Amino acid sequence: MDVFDLIVVGGGASGFMSSITAAENDVKKITILESSTKLLEKVRISGGGRCNVTNASWVPSEFIDNYPRGKKKLIESFSRFATGDVFEWFQEKGVKLKIEDDLRVFPTSDSSLDIVNCLKNSAKNLGIEISTKKFVKRIQRVFEDGLFQVFTSTDEFFLTKKLLISTGGHSSGYRLAESLGHRIIKPVPSLFSFTCRDEKLKECRGVAVKNVSLEIYLNNKRFKSQGDLLVTHWGFSGPAILRLSSEAARDLYEKKYKFKLRINWTNLDFSELNNRMHMLRETNGTTNICNLRPIPSLTKRLWVYLLDKLEIDNAKTWSELFSTERYKITNILLNDEYQISGKGPFADEFVTSGGVSLDEVSFKTMESFICKGLYFTGEVLDVDGITGGFNFQHCWTSGWLAGKAISN
Ligand SMILES: Cc1cc2nc3c(=O)[nH]c(=O)nc-3n(C[C@H](O)[C@H](O)[C@H](O)COP(=O)(O)OP(=O)(O)OC[C@H]3O[C@@H](n4cnc5c(N)ncnc54)[C@H](O)[C@@H]3O)c2cc1C
Repeated sequence: MDVFDLIVVGGGASGFMSSITAAENDVKKITILESSTKLLEKVRISGGGRCNVTNASWVPSEFIDNYPRGKKKLIESFSRFATGDVFEWFQEKGVKLKIEDDLRVFPTSDSSLDIVNCLKNSAKNLGIEISTKKFVKRIQRVFEDGLFQVFTSTDEFFLTKKLLISTGGHSSGYRLAESLGHRIIKPVPSLFSFTCRDEKLKECRGVAVKNVSLEIYLNNKRFKSQGDLLVTHWGFSGPAILRLSSEAARDLYEKKYKFKLRINWTNLDFSELNNRMHMLRETNGTTNICNLRPIPSLTKRLWVYLLDKLEIDNAKTWSELFSTERYKITNILLNDEYQISGKGPFADEFVTSGGVSLDEVSFKTMESFICKGLYFTGEVLDVDGITGGFNFQHCWTSGWLAGKAISN
């Protein structure tokens, strides 16, 4: 029976990156076993079909702040293969990348298919075998010769010298890792929107507010995020919410996604906002409060909603407001509160928090400390980043490191 040099379980971003890198460094007999009929499916649908390949933050020590889980370990891997290397890697293979204003990196074509085709064609040209509909159900180590036996649900089995598990957030991958002696940190969702059962808030759906500050206080911990927020017909979404969901992912899971969300709609402190409210009264006393917002970035719909929430008559002018009402407005703008009742209704969980425990894997080589010849890359590990290209960067980096190490 043929013995492979490398079997990669899972045909996603990190599985392809590792097999291509290994093949480019003279590893000969490689096969990717993919359970579904589709290769690189998440890459295809990612970034709204554009694929946010990475993020143009160049300093590794700052880059790692975008990973609520894994940052300490990642500093080592990003010092070897980071954003600049990803640019070079894809551009050498003919895919041009561009940086957008918010530092997210996409193919210049705005099509994820460019990335998918680049990975598929590179693998094909290097002679990597790829089989779909091959669900790996069991792996066994043959101790006499150090080989791995890989069993699929089609009742086939393969032998390989080195084995790489890149099964993303799929439960079967965790089971395979456990069967080879690894500890799994319980997988829970990350990067989701929040549901809020406030009927009146629904009238503000579609409203986007720039640069808000968010806070959740849970389990004696304070989770914070800052950025743009979107009011949806089910509650809240947008980059600041997704970031917060990621920071607090494990605590929110524990609390069954029932918690209080605090929103500071301004980027001002109390005295700055108080002065602004005072000025409005002095200089625009005869103007209707509805027509002049203390924070211009709040849309009129949201401002009217907040006044209604405070039970303030919005037919009043600025000079007609009582001081207690002005105080209430200041307070709600700085410290608005919502009861969140769950995660958003759609399957908007972009990544899994949890996975193979990081203490058991070398971040120089991605090799297991527990089982020699076994490697892990991508989301199957207990690493997850916020939105912005950080999750794929981890896939490229871990895939590249594993591919290099396997070739040594
Ligand atoms: C809708 C969406 C949009 C996203 N957009 C972005 C983005 O723009 N930028 C970004 O950085 N991140 C994005 N992400 C996150 C990113 O897609 C993932 O972090 C990344 O795809 C993980 O890659 P991976 O190689 O670890 O695993 P995956 O891409 O999940 O691949 C794992 C593969 O393994 C296969 N598999 C699982 N179990 C087995 C088994 N037992 N046997 C054989 N095969 C198996 C699966 O079928 C799958 O094909 C997005 C995620 C989603 C869901």
